[in-house]
Amino acid sequence: MAENEYRLETNSELRFEVEGKDSVELVLISGKAEIFGTELAPNKVYKFNPGAKVAVYTWFTCCVKIKGKTEGTYIAKETPMIMYLNMHACLEKLRVQADDNFTQDQSTRGPVTMIVGPSDVGKTTLCKILLNYAVRQGRRPIYVDLDVGQGDISICGTMGAVLVERTASVEEGFSQEAPLVFSFGHTTPRTNHTLYNILVSRMAVIVHEKMACIRKVAASGVVINTCGWVKDEGYKSLTHVAQAFEVDVIIVLDQERLYNELVRDIPFIKVVYLPKSGGVVERTRQMRIKSRDNSIHKYFYGAKTKYHPYSFDVPYSQLQIYKIGAPALPDSCMPADMKVDDHMTKLVPVEPSPKLKHSILAISMATESTDLLMTNVAGFLCVLEVDDEKKSVTVLSPQPQPLPKALMILTEVLFMDSS
Ligand code: ATP
Ligand code: MN
Repeated sequence: MAENEYRLETNSELRFEVEGKDSVELVLISGKAEIFGTELAPNKVYKFNPGAKVAVYTWFTCCVKIKGKTEGTYIAKETPMIMYLNMHACLEKLRVQADDNFTQDQSTRGPVTMIVGPSDVGKTTLCKILLNYAVRQGRRPIYVDLDVGQGDISICGTMGAVLVERTASVEEGFSQEAPLVFSFGHTTPRTNHTLYNILVSRMAVIVHEKMACIRKVAASGVVINTCGWVKDEGYKSLTHVAQAFEVDVIIVLDQERLYNELVRDIPFIKVVYLPKSGGVVERTRQMRIKSRDNSIHKYFYGAKTKYHPYSFDVPYSQLQIYKIGAPALPDSCMPADMKVDDHMTKLVPVEPSPKLKHSILAISMATESTDLLMTNVAGFLCVLEVDDEKKSVTVLSPQPQPLPKALMILTEVLFMDSS
């Protein structure tokens, strides 16, 4: 197996991608280095799976060894890391201010920061860096991921929030203990932006409540990740997020036009422009589909720590499934007193049928169907098979039988289990 050593000078980074079928091992032999804000432990073997795109950055100097085949491997001397660190320092100042204010006033809080920009500019990566730096400084920020296409917290098609208490694992990302997850059911907000905005508002209320309860969390603030859809309704959604979360700082990555629009439209919020890193890798449609698939596979089977999902039959009679949003009617067919918005949030009961095959079902925490829309979910099932004669479905579930007596939301997310 190929084995290569790389020496990095101060403020430089080693970039590589894992392309083939085999994973790659990386070891820090000497010096200090970090991957997207998480410090590497010396002599520990880190394993990267196919699809990984990695940057090993050093503020000092270091030597790393890579075992296995990597693509596009080079050392970059130009990185925006110093600007990202300065950004962190600004946010940290606001947190210190919040700490000071607490002694006089109970209702203060640290910075709520939102990261926006088009696709493939490193939004998710910058969130990770800023959260990791905050945690390394002893903070406990909340991470909110509103990107329903490539969710970092749960499977695709969801929005999530999680309290960050440890730096992200280099291999597996942030710990996903007790996340708050809402099922949106689509992989782009375009499909139902009415519902998207409603869920954003609901999430914001819960996050503010959490901050109001725990002083340390309140002072640490929030980092919000967003979708790459920044035009038209997508842009309006971003301004809605800013309002709902009472955002203090918006970081715009890469796009000056978006930066100028936001400065013009929301003058009372601090908007900061930051360049994207030259290392950010553009992803093709195919790669995005693959990474969505991986997010679901990881949910059921685990990444490094392997889980063992269960598979069992559930009779139709035990399933109570709803879909959110009725198919759009042309305006002329709409009852006069009905708005498009009502339509997009309408609860439609779903009769089990072979059409459910491969669908992801979200298990709601709601006990009444009227609360379904505004309630978070406990987990997900995948429908593996439907037997219309026996009137039963076979599901893939992280929990063993019996299925909790719960209401379910049918999502538009599909998963073909090939394990
Ligand atoms: P999307 O629009 O899909 O949400 P994004 O703007 O969130 O994309 P990221 O997911 O942060 O972008 O980055 C895209 C890919 O580039 C990721 O796989 C990430 O690991 C990789 N990447 C980010 N920064 C670097 C870097 N400096 N060097 C090498 N790879 C990087
Ligand atoms: Mn992203």
